[in-house]
Amino acid sequence: MTRDPAEFVEKITEQARPLEKAFYLAEWDAAVTGSEAAVARVREAQAAHMRFWSDPELFRVAKQLHEAGQAEDPLLNRQLKLICLAAARNQQDEATIQRLSELESGVRRRYYNYRARVDGKELSDNQIDEILKHSQDSTQLQQVWEASKQVGQQVAEDVREMARLRNAAARSQGYRDHFHRSLLLDEIDEQELLALFDDLEQQSREPFTRLKEEIDKILSSRFGVAERQLRPWHYGDRFFQDGPRLEEVDLDSLVADRNIEELAVATYTGLGMDVVSILSRSDLYPRPGKNQHAFCIHVDRKGDIRTLNNLQPTHRWAETLLHELGHGVYDQYVDASLPWLLRAPAHTFATEAVAILMGSLTFDPEWYNRVIGTREDKARSLTASALRADRAKKLIFTRWCLTMAHFERLFYGDPEADLDTIWWDCVERYQLLQRPEGRQAPDWAAKIHVALVPVYYHNYELGHLMAAQLRKRLEDEAGGIVGRPAAGRWLIDSVFSPGASLDWRSLIEQATGEPLNPRYFIETLA
Ligand SMILES: [Zn+2]
Repeated sequence: MTRDPAEFVEKITEQARPLEKAFYLAEWDAAVTGSEAAVARVREAQAAHMRFWSDPELFRVAKQLHEAGQAEDPLLNRQLKLICLAAARNQQDEATIQRLSELESGVRRRYYNYRARVDGKELSDNQIDEILKHSQDSTQLQQVWEASKQVGQQVAEDVREMARLRNAAARSQGYRDHFHRSLLLDEIDEQELLALFDDLEQQSREPFTRLKEEIDKILSSRFGVAERQLRPWHYGDRFFQDGPRLEEVDLDSLVADRNIEELAVATYTGLGMDVVSILSRSDLYPRPGKNQHAFCIHVDRKGDIRTLNNLQPTHRWAETLLHELGHGVYDQYVDASLPWLLRAPAHTFATEAVAILMGSLTFDPEWYNRVIGTREDKARSLTASALRADRAKKLIFTRWCLTMAHFERLFYGDPEADLDTIWWDCVERYQLLQRPEGRQAPDWAAKIHVALVPVYYHNYELGHLMAAQLRKRLEDEAGGIVGRPAAGRWLIDSVFSPGASLDWRSLIEQATGEPLNPRYFIETLA
């Protein structure tokens, strides 16, 4: 392989570019058609992509060039760094890859096919969620909740084995364990993350304790049980991650007779951003066989940006479309003159932050007033209660993220430990739930992310923190967001344009004048 750094980067780019494009195109086709042929193409394209980055010689040369070239040409260095990280993430010996993918596909099949049994009846995940959200009957709730956890028993031993394998692979590369490795290869310093989460834990403790007391009062009267008898099945979902029904607010009525697509165009036009071309390539409405979720994809890093949605005239879908287009405009306004490797967001959680920020405009009274034309007093009163409900959700989700992040750290620290007890210790500590008496079961393994999307959850929380910090800056800079081209200009110039030429730390500091700070998020939860 060539020893000239610029030539090396060029050569890697030429090889990586078509592999990524093939993978994204296959993903898009699979999502819009659901066809078996497209799903098979995704598998092949993904394997080709992984095979390319797993080349040990590529990794060795990239590392050498990166270490030798420190600080000469910042853009070249950044590209070498990104090549090193992508290669490092894929360095695994063939036997480990084989064994891990076997375990993963077996475990995935069991999660997807698992049906909880209650009174001889099988329940799908949707039915379980429905009962946990709406039932008024404590006995039924307990039965359904317990049944939902049984998938944990079925997969726990395999998930433990996956942790051992992931740890062994991490140690062979010199990392302490898989937790440590995953974070570092995603440019997150473990000590920094833990300190940030400790800060978040302390600052959210008081507002969360207050919210939890309010929730307990409501649930105690809803179920006719004393507050001290409330157990995890009373809290609205399997993990207390969304929380129970609190306030019913009808935001749907405000968007009911509107075209969501037009609302999105008006929102982004008001910021001086063009989304019409993105929408024209997109697949927006429900159809049989099509993926039922929503996502945004940048196929070629040259402006072929598309979003898949399943739009209905509801508040939730208005929020979702603005969210996905938030990912879309970030991609679209990355400086097109940057090299291919740098034409991407600075980090997964940075693009998530922008998407969260844009979706949250559907809770902004100014959005109803300026984009929909709702009378100001009506917009203000409805959004005030919707915002309260949204804040409660964020606080509940934050404490759940703390459970997930701390559990995973301990899990990879020692997969042989008494994980059943450690899980409930985390749940009690961060989510203030009371564990069921005498429960001894692998409830940690009932959460699919622990098995199949490991060491990822912190990104959701970091996205929220960064979104709040951006919003604060936009309020100072432009007086708000909706209908303010100055806000759009600032986002494009300060956040989108640098792409991946900056790591997330430098981006946040350069854009907002300070490091990532949980204070702004906490302030919105008070
Ligand atoms: Zn997103």
